[in-house]
Formats: sequence, C-alpha cells, structure tokens
Amino acid sequence: MSGTKIKGLDLTTIREEFPVLDQQVNGKPLVYFDNAATTQKPKAVIDSLVSYYSSYNANIHRGIHTLAEKATAAFESTREAIRAFINASSTEEIIFTKGTTESINLVAATWGKENIHKGDEIIVSGLEHHSNMVPWQILAAEKGAIVKIIPVNANGELILSDLNNLITDKTKIIALNHVSNALGTINPIAEVIKIAHSKNVKVLIDGAQAVSHLDIDVQKLDADFYAFSGHKMYGPTGIGILYGKKALLEEMPPYQGGGEMIKEVTYASCSFNELPYKFEAGTPNIADAIALKASVDFINKFGKQAIREVENQLLEYATQKLSAIPGLTIKGTAKEKVSVISFVIEGIHHQDLGILLDQEGIAIRTGHHCTQPLMGHFGIPGTARASFAVYNTFEEIDRLEAGIKKAVKMLK
Ligand code: PLP
Repeated sequence: MSGTKIKGLDLTTIREEFPVLDQQVNGKPLVYFDNAATTQKPKAVIDSLVSYYSSYNANIHRGIHTLAEKATAAFESTREAIRAFINASSTEEIIFTKGTTESINLVAATWGKENIHKGDEIIVSGLEHHSNMVPWQILAAEKGAIVKIIPVNANGELILSDLNNLITDKTKIIALNHVSNALGTINPIAEVIKIAHSKNVKVLIDGAQAVSHLDIDVQKLDADFYAFSGHKMYGPTGIGILYGKKALLEEMPPYQGGGEMIKEVTYASCSFNELPYKFEAGTPNIADAIALKASVDFINKFGKQAIREVENQLLEYATQKLSAIPGLTIKGTAKEKVSVISFVIEGIHHQDLGILLDQEGIAIRTGHHCTQPLMGHFGIPGTARASFAVYNTFEEIDRLEAGIKKAVKMLK
C-alpha cells in the first residue's frame, strides 16, 4: 500500500506517525492487527501526554493559578472537540468517563435506578460485548426486570423483523452496539432508534467499535445515549465518553459522590453541580482527556470517509486472501461491516494459531472477544480476529496469509 494516497497524504507518512509500529517482534517486523482491542497512538497523542506532565500538570477547575487554568482550558477544549466530533448540541451532554464500560454502567446505575422497575424489560442484542450485557443483567437482577435479546442471523446481522414483537409496553430501553467487536457488523441503529422512539423506548448505543470508522451524528441519529472509549480511536486508555441528551442527564441522579459533582455541601445534605460535572466526581483523568483531543485531530485531519476507504480496501483484500485458505471460515459476513475479520480454521484451535502468528511478529486477537453468548450462538468457543486500522497495509495482509498457511501446515 506504500504510495497509496488518501486526501493527498501518503499512507507511509501516516505509519511514521506511530512509533510503536517501527519495531521487530520475535525477530520480524511487527504487524499489528489487534486494532479492535485497542488502536496504536500517533506521536501527537504521546506528545500531548508528555507536554501536560512536563509543563502544565495541575488539578483542574478549582485552581486559580496559571497552570491550573491552562490544564482546565485544555481539558475543556477536548470536551468541545468531542462535542463537535459527534455533533452533540452542547458540551453539557459530554461526560468524561474511564471508557465505554464505565459509560454504560453509569447509565444502568443512574438512569436505570430511576426508570427500571419490577417486570420492566430491557432489550439488548445478541451481538453485544459483555460491557453492554452484564450491567443490564445486574440491573435486571436487582430490580426484578427482564433482559430480552434481539436475535442474530447466520451472517452475524440482527434480525430486526423480530424487534417489533420484542418491544412491549414494559420495554424501557434498548441497548445495542453500533458495530460488533466480534464480527465487525454495522448495525442499523438509526432504524432501531426510530422504532424504539415510536414506542417511547429509550436507546443507548455502544459506539466503542464505531467511533474510529464511522461518522457519528448523535442529533441526526436521535440517540438518547452514546458511549465510547478513547483508546479505540487512536487516543489514550482510561478515558472515554458518555453522550446523553441533556433532558435525560438532568433527570438522572449522580453516579458517584465526591468533589466536583457538588454545588453545596452541609453536614446534613448536599446539592449537585450542573451538567456535565454532576457526573464527574473526583479528580478526572486529566492527562488522557487532554491527549484525547490529539486523537480527534488525527482522525479529523483525514476524515472518517477517507479512513474508511483505506480500511475497506484492506478488508476486501484480506477477505479475498483468507477465504481462499482451505478449511478457513469467516464468521460475520454482514453486508455492512467495518474492517474486522473473525475466522475459524477446521481442526485448529484459535489460540494455537494466535501463538504461531505471534512467532511471525503478527498480533491478532483470539478467544471469545467478550461476546460469549454470541460465540455460543455460533456453537464455537471463539475465533481468531484480525482488525485493521488506517496505518495497516496490503503487504501486512500478505504476511498474515503466509503466517496462517505456515501455522496450518504445522498444526495439521
Ligand atoms: N463495547 C464494545 C463493542 C467493545 O468492543 C468494547 C471493547 O472491546 C467495549 C464495549 C468495552 O470498552 P472498554 O473496555 O474500553 O470500556
């Protein structure tokens, strides 16, 4: 792919922005195909972290000294960058969390606490990551509510025709992912949201796997909640976002108590801060929040459409190459998918394959991908998963193909 240009920028230049890619693993140049687990970080993100800690480390919001003001301004400028990135109508709707998992738990614990009662129904999809399944199961167990599942077909697509039957007058919320981490399926969330809202049901979208690939417009989608993680969009770990409609967030009780989330405290009682701070108790992850802006800038520099174009080419090439390997079956053949290939090889355990590929310097993910129910649905313990980002190349896919063929020879 060297020489290929997107928006006038050579892809080799993009690779150079990622120091981690320039290394040998087990004596071979690293091929990093575990991007759905976490993406690598461009220099600008790393530099932003170093710059904060080496020149303006300070706690935010309450300080009046220069460093505190600088840190606060940088922290809040990420909030604005994220607002624009997903087209939220206000920064009051952008809450910093640790990541997608915490964002979903926040909604289950606060919105769920107020709105889910005995006998109520929560709908999730059969494609969910445990992060968007377990918080709802915990809530349902506490409240005596029921979790229902939108079924999945053999291609790994949601069977939406069942949704109308699943929704009853007891249904309060639908929680589903925008993109499946295990299979790459892009779910028709706009359609789900429309159906849900026509029946007065709220929708939470787990956008963990979508933000780095797809344009997100929460107003156009009319999503009630949208959750994602910085580390899957070329940003740091330990920082994520919960978007929520202002009217909903205002009605929700706080998630945790402590500093920052209060307006006034007496020995007898307290009142809560305004949005978004009501949901941000304690000193936040300042450094990673600030560096998240560099990852937004990195994505915006190319635009998601250009990034997706590159990733689609990689996906198409890899699909062709891998599906020609005897005994290899791709799991997840949805019409609409992102650059994720999940596969099994007859007679070979995915973990053995992963270990042998690592010997070749190729990093893929193996296992159930935190989607045990989905693996159960397919009757398999797990898959091998290669997931591509904007810095990957056709040559790397050739190495994956060769590595798989070599492993198959050794293991069969
Ligand atoms: N949802 C999906 C679809 C994911 O892929 C992941 C992570 O792999 C998560 C949720 C959880 O994200 P995090 O671990 O960053 O909280």
